[in-house]
Amino acid sequence: MNLILLGPPGAGKGTQAKMLIDRFGIPQISTGDMLRAAVAAGTELGLKAKACMDSGALVPDEVVIGIVGERLAQADCDKGFILDGFPRTVAQADALKQTLGQLGKSLDAVISLEVDTEALVERLTGRRTCRACGQGFHVRFDPPAKEGVCDACGGELYQRDDDREETIRKRLDVYQEQTSPLIEYYQQEGLLAAIDGMQDISVVQEDILATLREAR
Ligand SMILES: [Zn+2]
Repeated sequence: MNLILLGPPGAGKGTQAKMLIDRFGIPQISTGDMLRAAVAAGTELGLKAKACMDSGALVPDEVVIGIVGERLAQADCDKGFILDGFPRTVAQADALKQTLGQLGKSLDAVISLEVDTEALVERLTGRRTCRACGQGFHVRFDPPAKEGVCDACGGELYQRDDDREETIRKRLDVYQEQTSPLIEYYQQEGLLAAIDGMQDISVVQEDILATLREAR
């Protein structure tokens, strides 16, 4: 099962990825992890990537795709993989297609978790975190017994900077801008499966599994 998982922050991508990993026994491959691993291993591509990162430059596509290719050729990807955070551009998507072809592989599906922006903003801006023990609450969906106070330890609840409306809207905008060309690309390739990410986690999961049964 060779997959790409797309979804904005807060859409539950991590939860769904974990379900797929457990169910199919396939690794999740994130670009950041891969780059760090290649740098740590001191491979030729890793050294090139390190030089770029050290100088604060973006790691060029040919280096990233080389590292992705090396990773996808490893034995634990024989049964499949979930790509996370890659590709980011249409050029990378094209390069990925080529690299997969060289490995005798191809994508089975590109799963895009779709969200309603306003509902997602509400979901995320309502989150509160305990300063003392880190427990999470939600002002509407999982409120504490007493406003602003942690049920578990009596600590003060606060809103993390990441959960502020302005931060969230900015991240969603960046995601939309970056991802819409990719969505179009994979739609044309006939690989895109758009799934309503605002449903209950278990329903989203069912939808993903149904899509994968069809893709096989
Ligand atoms: Zn607490």
